[in-house]
Amino acid sequence: MRSVSVFGATGSIGESTFDLLTGQGGRDTYRTVALTGGRNVARLAEMARALGAEVAVTAHDDCLSDLRDALAGSGVEVAAGAAAIAEAAARPADWTMSAIVGAAGLVPGFRALSHGGTLALANKESLVTAGPLLMAEARRHDARILPVDSEHSAVFQALVGEDLATVEHITITASGGAFRDWPLDRLARATVAEASTHPNWAMGQRITIDSASMFNKALEMIETREFFGISPDQIEVLLHPESLVHALVGFRDGGVIAHLGTPDMRHAIGYALNWPDRAHLPVGRLDLARAGSLSFRAPDPVRYPALRLAREVMAAGGLCGAAFNAAKEAALDAFIAGRIGFTVMAEVVEAALERLSGAGALGMAPGDLDMVLAADAEARRVAGEIITLRQGG
Ligand code: NAD
Ligand code: MG
Repeated sequence: MRSVSVFGATGSIGESTFDLLTGQGGRDTYRTVALTGGRNVARLAEMARALGAEVAVTAHDDCLSDLRDALAGSGVEVAAGAAAIAEAAARPADWTMSAIVGAAGLVPGFRALSHGGTLALANKESLVTAGPLLMAEARRHDARILPVDSEHSAVFQALVGEDLATVEHITITASGGAFRDWPLDRLARATVAEASTHPNWAMGQRITIDSASMFNKALEMIETREFFGISPDQIEVLLHPESLVHALVGFRDGGVIAHLGTPDMRHAIGYALNWPDRAHLPVGRLDLARAGSLSFRAPDPVRYPALRLAREVMAAGGLCGAAFNAAKEAALDAFIAGRIGFTVMAEVVEAALERLSGAGALGMAPGDLDMVLAADAEARRVAGEIITLRQGG
């Protein structure tokens, strides 16, 4: 029986993962080791009971007693806090879903690699902040990382049987998010509610807002570089409003292999869960005759400054990815809290990177996780100062 753990089980990716595990036999097929979540302990407990998990962990200490009550008599162990999540990740599982949102997913993902097995990586922030360390950790323990981000799963599938050395470019697509057709001068006044709707994908709030600002695609460019090890100038972004083509890989003979499918994360999650097999998955089928046409255009650099920032981050290397992600998370928190406007997010990130790299703080290649976490903390602090100055702007 295959053992599985799901980190961030109560989120959007976590729910889809739970849905697939249940659909593939649940506790008759899988032995569930750990499930983790946040404040939604009722749902976490429900999932833990349904899968017969060994341990359920909430990220919040003040939720522990509720979780304990909800799991009373179930035989499921309970725990709380970041250290308990890391401890749960150190328990061996054959397959681990990394679906915590943000840099908080970094340490659990690392711990999960320490016992080998497969890490299904939805948490792109791990690769953005600590890509080389994460890939090295996987090699050291003979663990496997499978991409879950839809674009990266698409590239991975397009590369089956191919030689990476023959790849000329990798193009990831972007829907353009909630504001792709808004007049530019309206963007500054976009509200949190408006930014939290996505034209095609149903996702967690943070990644949905990151899709509107294109910070999500910026992270994904860096994720592409770290996962596939190709150079930044081979990575392209194409606006594709229909979200049916997820990525294209161009080869040196002029051939291009694209991956298509309806926008449903259960495809990429299911691919990673069943790899190298392809299982029957409960996702909508692509109907191109009904879609009629697919459209593409180059992203507008004025509307989406995040894409330029991603290129600068990749060129600078070192701890820049960690600082970029942390400053972005701080700016996103401030936007959600109503402290700064939508377009100020990119300004905050750019100013934070300028200040940190001006101080020579980001040049070093991270030697270990502590260096990454320190750069993350410093970038949050600097971004916080800039946000305070810009507040209301
Ligand atoms: P979500 O907000 O819906 O869920 C996040 C999960 O992480 C929840 O279980 C939450 O309780 C937990 N969590 C949040 N903060 C935490 C913390 N500090 N410590 C521990 N746990 C914490 O997010 P999501 O949309 O499911 O995204 C999860 C990850 O997958 C992100 O990295 C995102 O970029 C990536 N991703 C998501 C999608 C999608 O369709 N939702 C697609 C591609 C990639
Ligand atoms: Mg994606």
